[in-house]
Amino acid sequence: MTRAAVRWLAGVGILALAACGPAADPPALLLRGVQVIDGTGAPPTGPVTVIVRDGWIDGVVADSSVQPARGDRVIDLAGRTVIPGFVDLHVHFPPDSSVQDAMLHRLAEWGVTTVLNPGARVGSGVELRDRRAIGSPRIRTAGLILENAVGREGPLDWAVLVADSVDVREAVRAQVAQGVDFVKLYAGLGPDLVAAAVAEARSADVPVILHAGATGWRRAAELGVDMLVHAGYSSPMEELMDVPDPAPLSDPEWYAAYARAPEGRPFADVARTLMEREVVIVPTLSIMQAAAFADDLDLLASLRPELAPERDLPGWWGEGWERVHPQRGEVSGEEAALLKEVYWPALLDIHRAWWEAEVEMGVGTDVGNPWMTPGVSFHHELALYAEAGIPPLEVLAMATRNGGRALGLEEEIGVVAPGFRADLVVLTDDPSTDIAATRSIELVLVDGRVVVDRR
Ligand SMILES: [Zn+2]
Repeated sequence: MTRAAVRWLAGVGILALAACGPAADPPALLLRGVQVIDGTGAPPTGPVTVIVRDGWIDGVVADSSVQPARGDRVIDLAGRTVIPGFVDLHVHFPPDSSVQDAMLHRLAEWGVTTVLNPGARVGSGVELRDRRAIGSPRIRTAGLILENAVGREGPLDWAVLVADSVDVREAVRAQVAQGVDFVKLYAGLGPDLVAAAVAEARSADVPVILHAGATGWRRAAELGVDMLVHAGYSSPMEELMDVPDPAPLSDPEWYAAYARAPEGRPFADVARTLMEREVVIVPTLSIMQAAAFADDLDLLASLRPELAPERDLPGWWGEGWERVHPQRGEVSGEEAALLKEVYWPALLDIHRAWWEAEVEMGVGTDVGNPWMTPGVSFHHELALYAEAGIPPLEVLAMATRNGGRALGLEEEIGVVAPGFRADLVVLTDDPSTDIAATRSIELVLVDGRVVVDRR
C-alpha cells in the first residue's frame, strides 16, 4: 500500500445531514466476504458480511443472506480479515493542540480507535477528551498524576504533589469534579496514600491506575487499585523474587533471580492476587525494551517512527526526548550486557507467565515518551507479546476486548459482534498466525465511518 493512497476523510459529518430522510433504517455499509476475528480470542470465522449502520455493528451474517437495500454501500473485501479497532491504554498527549491532533491522526492511521490518557501532562485531560473530532479515536482520560510531595521538588507540570491523605482526597475530589474517567497515582505514594485515593475515587465510581513504586503490586491490588502500568523497573521486581534483600542492579545474581521468578512461590502469589482481584496490567514492553537496550543504537533506530517528520519528534517525545533512559551513559558495559541478555528475555518470560496465570493484560505503549511513536509503537508492542510466546489470537484479544474491558466499555468496543460500535480494522493479511499482519491495514472505521482507505 502506498502512503499517498491514504485518504483521511475529515469533515464527512456534513454528508450525514444530507442523508437525512424519511426512511426507517439509515443506509448500511456492508463489508462483504470478510473473515472475522472477533477479538475474544476465538478463531477466525467467515467469509461473512459485517453490516454497519448508524455507527454500530448491526449484523454479522452469511454473505448469501444479505441483499443491499437502496442507498446501502457495499465494499467487497474477499480475502481480507476484519478485527476490532485497537485500544492503546497508555498514550500521553503534549500540551500543543496541533501536536495532539497529529497524534490522533497517526493513531487512527494505524488502527488505534480508542486511547487511554493515563496522566494528562497539563490541565485536566478532560478538555482534550471532550473536543474529539468526528472520526478521531475516542479518548478516556486521567487528570494530572498524583505524586508524593516528599522527595520531590515542586511544582511539577505533570503532577499534583500530595503530602498526606487529606491532600490526596482533596486532589481526587477536584479531578472527579472536572470529569476525569480515571485517577492516576505515581511511584512515590505508599500504601496509606494509595488507600486514601482508592477510597475517594471509589465513592465516585472512578477507577484508579498506579505506576507502582513505594506500594508493590500485590499490596496495591489488595487496596483496590484497578490498573497497574509498566513492567520491569516500574513494577514489583523484588516482590516477585525469592531474594529478601535485593542486590544492586549490577549484580549478576540479582538478574539470575529475576529470570527464575516465574517458577517461584512469590510470583504465583502475586499472580493469583492480581487474577482474583481482576486487576488489569498494562506492561508497556516497548519502552522497557528501549530502556534495556539504551546503548543499542541499531535497536533504537528500528523503533524510529516510520511516519514521524524529524520536526515532530520533540513535540511527541516531550522534553529531554534525546535521552532514552536516565541511566543512559551511566550504565557500565557489564550491566548493559545483563540488561540485554538476562533481564530482557526474563521480562518476556514473566509476561508469558502472567498470561498463563490468567492475569488480565491490556496493551499500552507510553506514547508521549522517548522512542514511542503514535500507532507504530502499538504494533511493535503486539509483536513483543507474540515473541514472549502468547498466541497471536490472544495478543489480539489483549489489544481489543481487554482494552474495552479496562475502560469499562466492554459492552461497546473491542469486539466484532452486533451491538458493538463499528470501530473496525480491515487487514489484507491474516494475523491469526502471524501477528505482524496487524500492520497490513487497508481500512479503518471509527464509529462506522471509513477514516482510512488504502485500497
Ligand atoms: Zn506513562
